[in-house]
Amino acid sequence: MTIHHINYQVKAIPILSIVVPCYNEEDVLPETFARLESLLAELVLSEAISNKSAIWLVDDGSTDRTWHLISRVSDQSGGPFRGIKLSRNQGHQIALYAGLMTAKGDVLISIDADLQDDLNVINQMLDAFKGGDDIVYGVRSSRRSDNFFKRTSAEMYYYIMDKLGVEIVFNHADFRLMSRRSVEALRKFPESNIFLRGLVPLLGFSSSIVQYERLERFAGDSKYPLMRMLSLAWQGVTSFSVFPLRAITTLGILVSIISLAMAFWALYVKLFSQSAVPGWASMVIPLFLISGVQLLSLGLIGEYLAKVFVESKKRPLYFLDQLAMPPECDYEEEFARD
Ligand code: UDP
Ligand code: MG
Repeated sequence: MTIHHINYQVKAIPILSIVVPCYNEEDVLPETFARLESLLAELVLSEAISNKSAIWLVDDGSTDRTWHLISRVSDQSGGPFRGIKLSRNQGHQIALYAGLMTAKGDVLISIDADLQDDLNVINQMLDAFKGGDDIVYGVRSSRRSDNFFKRTSAEMYYYIMDKLGVEIVFNHADFRLMSRRSVEALRKFPESNIFLRGLVPLLGFSSSIVQYERLERFAGDSKYPLMRMLSLAWQGVTSFSVFPLRAITTLGILVSIISLAMAFWALYVKLFSQSAVPGWASMVIPLFLISGVQLLSLGLIGEYLAKVFVESKKRPLYFLDQLAMPPECDYEEEFARD
């Protein structure tokens, strides 16, 4: 029996695209370029990937010399680098998405610019791909390089997401391999709230994980300060789970039952006891309780409404500002279009 993969050709030697979002990374980029270039050369030499493979650098509206460095390295004749400049800073998720949508190739690997993800497991990822997996998640085996706060908050987050019924891969950030057809499937999602860690598992397709030790940032500072991390976490919950809405309804019912019981009690005190004036507490407490719950519910509904509002605008997610490529390359051939 032969199994047909729909819309899928496993080529003997696939073209690999490595997609790297970069935001104010001038300190680390020279080292990143050097390491990625030698990795690619090695992989080409061992015939694991085609010599048409490329490294796609996405400048997410940096304010430092990032684009200068990217466009210079992409200008090298015969070099593996391609540069994409977004018209402004859109955040890591959208920068990565723009890179995935623009890069060509049979297999795409996304990786951070700061060299925290271990390049050595890319080989394993490619092996898994050749073994038939469409998606390979890089999963960090430990969080030793994180401080206590980042570690506990991140682990708590994955735990809560799991309990809320959001399918995400534990301790996987955005270091992953995707086959061409899984990227094309991703393109079909119409939403503007891009949270790749939640979307990619929804694609289905066969997947596997490879473990790696996440290293310290090679240079520069984290571009994810606390507020941005919290906002990504919140985005993940409200884009993928309706559990909070449901929980609020349950809470509402529960509180209503309690207040009903209190109402009966107040009535009983008034009708059948001598202390005829019921304390104000029995009126004020449910009043507070109910208005609290109402406000909470309204806030939550507003949160989801805001999401509908944003989605319904169908705004384009990003604009490409400039592209950089070696002089002999042809735009039409090099860049996939959406
Ligand atoms: N990044 C980006 N746009 C942003 C913030 C970050 O493209 O607005 C990139 C950044 O250059 C890096 C990756 O996203 O390649 C991860 O960011 P960072 O290393 O700062 O996050 P952390 O590892 O601290 O969570
Ligand atoms: Mg980092």
